[in-house]
Amino acid sequence: MSDILAQYRIPAEPYYRPVADEVTLFEAAYAAKMPLMLKGPTGCGKTRFVEHMAWWLGKPLVTVACNEDMTASDLVGRFLLDASGTRWQDGPLAFAARHGAICYLDEVVEARQDTTVVIHPLTDKRRALPLEKKGEFLRAHPDFHLVISYNPGYQSLMKDLKQSTKQRFGALDFHYPAHAVESEIVADEAKIDVATADKLVAIAERSRNLKGHGLDEGLSTRMLIHAGELIARGVAPLAACRVALVRPITDDPDMRDALDAAVATFF
Ligand code: ADP
Repeated sequence: MSDILAQYRIPAEPYYRPVADEVTLFEAAYAAKMPLMLKGPTGCGKTRFVEHMAWWLGKPLVTVACNEDMTASDLVGRFLLDASGTRWQDGPLAFAARHGAICYLDEVVEARQDTTVVIHPLTDKRRALPLEKKGEFLRAHPDFHLVISYNPGYQSLMKDLKQSTKQRFGALDFHYPAHAVESEIVADEAKIDVATADKLVAIAERSRNLKGHGLDEGLSTRMLIHAGELIARGVAPLAACRVALVRPITDDPDMRDALDAAVATFF
């Protein structure tokens, strides 16, 4: 029989450098069937962590990038018309619940609140998903696990999760790793030497101090890896930082000059 989950299985270990006790806590939450919320700024390792954990636990992973146009049907499923009439198609949430995958809703606050509430019955002891249009009360597979990500610094008041949603989850806090750990990650991922990665991290730290003072977010680990990948391909560090770090993060000329100056201090 063909494995319906084949495309959701993670064949090789995704590189993940643990930062604190997040691996043990995730394992315990998975065993306790406690849904988890990963909180932290963009590009700090949340998605990579879930991929790593899915691989470690040997479970398939269904990832959904949430956006404000997403409807409840996009998560739950809908009837499709085909030559022989209508056919039900599970949405990613129903699919994961039915077959026992980890379902990762990335940036869940981007979804409208009337969409977010469909996850509620899956997060309490019922672990069920009513498929009203289909007339099915879907009970989640024992292996099913729900994980959402959420960037607390970023959304306006209009875009916060409701308390009634938040209080259904355990939460793991993610931050940018400590300097030496982040340098190691950037060096490993971008295939550059640690001394160069160290300089990129130092630039990022300066930018992170500017958060709230002209920058909405500091430079993420992901951006440092982008810069490192250009350097690894022979691009001069100043140009690599301009393209991968400074220009993407700001349109403000003063901020751009301040960040260019920080880059010039290190390279
Ligand atoms: P987000 O928090 O937005 O989900 P990602 O998980 O996509 O961020 O992280 C961005 C990139 O940073 C990853 O692709 C990975 O290369 C790297 N990264 C961040 N933290 C770690 C870590 N602890 N171990 C390994 N790679 C990491």
